[in-house]
Amino acid sequence: MFKTAIGQDSHRFEPDTSSKPLVLGGVIIPGCPGLCGNSDADVVLHAVTNAVSGISGINILGEISDNLCHKQGITDSRIYLEKALDTLTEYTVTHLSISMEGRRPKLAPHIDTLKKSLANMLGLTVSCVGITATTGEDLTEFGRGNGIQVFALITAQKK
Ligand SMILES: [Zn+2]
Repeated sequence: MFKTAIGQDSHRFEPDTSSKPLVLGGVIIPGCPGLCGNSDADVVLHAVTNAVSGISGINILGEISDNLCHKQGITDSRIYLEKALDTLTEYTVTHLSISMEGRRPKLAPHIDTLKKSLANMLGLTVSCVGITATTGEDLTEFGRGNGIQVFALITAQKK
């Protein structure tokens, strides 16, 4: 028995003068300011975390992540994803597909690194992580370079 679930997230960039690093999929990407948010604002991991919640039915982003952030000072989104994966008691993630929209940064040079990072966090082989990226062609806030939007689709198999 399989389940599939989608997760989405989007964040706006900090001003260009910000020293906050841009973190995507647990990887620091140079050349762009970070994204706005109380946490590291890792928009990729937030979308993946929401997709995991779509499998388990237990939402992590929101009350639980806010508590981790505000009460325990945990801003590393990898911890939020770990919390979500901990709730997957009956299912094993078998595949992850990511679709990203944003004019900046240029994502193509980072895709292999991102795949490795995500595969490592989810216990998958790199061949079970797919990532595509589009610029958005000036049509949306993401396409105008003001932020990044990510969709994540997870497939999981019953243990
Ligand atoms: Zn987010």
